[in-house]
Amino acid sequence: MIPQQQLSGGQNLAMKDEVQQQQFSKVASSEAEFRQLIGDENEGTLARFVDNKLNVLIWSRSPRDRNLIFGAQVSLPQLIRELAPLIEPAEAELQSEICATLLDDAAKPVAISRPGFQAHWKHPFVATEIGETLPHWEVAVYLLNPAKLKNSARTVKLTLGLLIAVLILAISVGSWLIVTDLSQQLKLARQKTDFVSNVSHELKTPLTSIRMFSELLAEGRVNDPTKQRSYLGIITAETARLTRLINNVLDFARLERGEKKYKLEQCDLRALVKETCETFRPHFEANEFKFECQTPDHPVLVQGDRDGLAQVIVNLLSNAEKYSGNQKQIELRLEKNDSKAEITVLDRGMGVPKGCEEKIFEQFYRAHDSLSSGIQGSGLGLTLARQIARAHGGEVGYEGREGGGSCFRLSLPLVM
Ligand code: ADP
Repeated sequence: MIPQQQLSGGQNLAMKDEVQQQQFSKVASSEAEFRQLIGDENEGTLARFVDNKLNVLIWSRSPRDRNLIFGAQVSLPQLIRELAPLIEPAEAELQSEICATLLDDAAKPVAISRPGFQAHWKHPFVATEIGETLPHWEVAVYLLNPAKLKNSARTVKLTLGLLIAVLILAISVGSWLIVTDLSQQLKLARQKTDFVSNVSHELKTPLTSIRMFSELLAEGRVNDPTKQRSYLGIITAETARLTRLINNVLDFARLERGEKKYKLEQCDLRALVKETCETFRPHFEANEFKFECQTPDHPVLVQGDRDGLAQVIVNLLSNAEKYSGNQKQIELRLEKNDSKAEITVLDRGMGVPKGCEEKIFEQFYRAHDSLSSGIQGSGLGLTLARQIARAHGGEVGYEGREGGGSCFRLSLPLVM
């Protein structure tokens, strides 16, 4: 592997000696470098850049004398001709999509799968170096139509984005539903516990009074006839309260099970209202209430279940009494309004706190709880009233009153 160079015969001897001397030292250093490069190997290839041009050598050590090494320089144009067919894409489908090239160390294409193809050679779609034998040479692939890939990448990105968005949405909606359902269940469980304690208290209080006053009367310990009448009045009122509560609870349970059926027949609301008011009047008057019941002169006909409608009026009147406080003033008005019959129950009591106007119609909901207000209740009266009204094609609603107090309005369709 000694570079051969001949000197022309016209040069003088001294000069020849000097050149030979230089050549020898050059050869000696090249040889040492070469030996260092090949090490103990028996054969191999060696790539060197000389004057910025790649030279590839193949070499082999003589098996008989290891100091004897044969070598040859590879012809790069020949090598490129041999490599060119290897970069052709094997699949026909790919041939119409990509162009494969062999790039030399200056990133210039020396072999190309689609003749005439032009691209920014330094920016391939994908590239890989060939290896040590051809240093800095690369096989590079270019897309014939990069816009197509961009479009499909955009579509994939969009689809993926959409999928992720849908997934996030589904997870959020799911979690929201679970959390809402859980808090609903918790709320209901709490309300049911409150309801049980409220109802047991509401049952116990009238029972205690009934028992106490009936015992007093039975033992003959009260001789004053006025007192006797008053005690009997208390017993009647407490019994009515008990009946109301039990009716509400039983009806609510029937409605929950879908068993409650209303017998709708033509009934005169005026007669029903008068009757209910008269049942309440003695009790109201005994408790110093100013009670007014206004009804029109003519009958007010509706299609309804008498007992059901009476229960709504009773619930509204007994609430007016319970939540009146010291303002003992209750009014009931029956009016005809367009095609509707309207019963309004008005009081001057504490009114419904702001924000609770609709909640009071929810089952077990109490805006004035027993502990803070001292007023007993089950939280079912208005729920039932609304359910009964709706079963009649009507409605019960609440309005605040100027000057304080409540106004509950039951509206029912009139029979024409
Ligand atoms: P309760 O047995 O607790 O009275 P209701 O369903 O009849 O149950 O009423 C629900 C809630 O509505 C009551 O707890 C009370 O806070 C409120 N409420 C009902 N009627 C009146 C009224 N006339 N004035 C003020 N608040 C009322």
